[in-house]
Amino acid sequence: MTDETLIKPDRETKDETKAGSYFVSNYPPFSLWNEKDVDCLPSMLNSPSPGSAPLGLYYHVPFCRKRCHFCYFRVYTDKNSNDIRRYLSATMKELKAYAASSYVNGRKPKFVYFGGGTPSYLSAQQLTDLTNEMKSILPWDEAEEVTFECEPGTLHEKKLEVIKNFGVTRLSLGIENFDDHILAINGRAHRSNAVFRAYEFARQLGFDNINVDLIAGMLEETDENWSNCVDQVIDLSPDCVTIYQMEIPFNTTIFKSMKEKGKLSAPVADWQTKRRWVEEAFGRLESAGYTVTSAYTAVKDPDKTKFIYRDRLWSGADMVGLGVASLGHLGGIHYQNLTHIDQYCDTIESEGPVVRRALLTTDEERFVRELILQWKLGLVRPSYFKEKFGIDVLKRYSEVFEEWSASGDLIIGKDELRLSRTALLRVDSMLHSFFLPQHQDIA
Ligand code: SF4
Repeated sequence: MTDETLIKPDRETKDETKAGSYFVSNYPPFSLWNEKDVDCLPSMLNSPSPGSAPLGLYYHVPFCRKRCHFCYFRVYTDKNSNDIRRYLSATMKELKAYAASSYVNGRKPKFVYFGGGTPSYLSAQQLTDLTNEMKSILPWDEAEEVTFECEPGTLHEKKLEVIKNFGVTRLSLGIENFDDHILAINGRAHRSNAVFRAYEFARQLGFDNINVDLIAGMLEETDENWSNCVDQVIDLSPDCVTIYQMEIPFNTTIFKSMKEKGKLSAPVADWQTKRRWVEEAFGRLESAGYTVTSAYTAVKDPDKTKFIYRDRLWSGADMVGLGVASLGHLGGIHYQNLTHIDQYCDTIESEGPVVRRALLTTDEERFVRELILQWKLGLVRPSYFKEKFGIDVLKRYSEVFEEWSASGDLIIGKDELRLSRTALLRVDSMLHSFFLPQHQDIA
């Protein structure tokens, strides 16, 4: 059987879903992040504070009740309360070190994001203690948004009250699908009754923004079931709906099983079907009054419902990443922490450096990063890039834009480059046109 190191993702995404990561979540590619650049981080942290430049905080909770078959994160399903206590305390030591650095000291996060894993796996008491301590180290009273990811089956009224009370403004529910059989065969821990219960509690508590996640193309998804999922989402009427197209990275259980069977294509819908499903969902959400605001999201009221974490990150904000395997970005340095929980905790306890790999980016790389990330919004404003980086994107990429316009993928307006809906739905496969020449062949 072909080894995963020999397979490259098929970026065209025209046919079957093959193994690999299609979703472009950062730039330059992770494979370029290295040990050598880790040494740049302490000098950055010792440098003067950049004043009012926006700062965010990402907190990673690596625990889940069960491992989903499509999951590619490092998550732990076997940790006891002592292990969790040890982890939480290690992350607070990590936060203290950032907060004491001259680069971060005195700055207040503009956005906070609890991701995972499953942040809602933590108990109400653990969450209360954790967030009180976080706030005492780095106050968030100026945060414009606090996002918290939840697995519906871990929520109950008391825990949701705690989550609301420590300041969460954007509650994100990982529903993924409404069919219990599909949830079960994809390895999800929750069932649909937990979704309805959690959603109702959350609505009663008055969160500013409730997002629900769906995945188009889970194992055994059908046209009929997908249409039913869209009906159910419209009935729930959340502020924001996020839809991912299923991809099968190499470290998923689905890929392991493909490998055992000698298969290169994943047993999920092909890309055209997944895009058709998202198109159907976006179309029906628009008919229900929603506005599509990126390749993955539709919101009920675009004036009120923002996603500050995404928008700040995609325009180059600093972000401290806390916890095992966390990703951060400070002063133009990308970094990632150690990826094994015991190693992470041991290292923090012995006062060692927990950053495992980093990349000191160039101005040019930061420009490309923002450009490719902002394409995912379906709208790029040339004046933004001219002002911030002094680069005329219309001139630099005239050939690409001519080609995209000719094929109907791009609509060029006054200071706006807008992707057509069909292009938006496959935007991740189009972004490599902007990668610098030295990164073109890097997965
Ligand atoms: S809930 Fe999310 S993080 Fe946890 S196993 Fe499933 S996909 Fe992975």
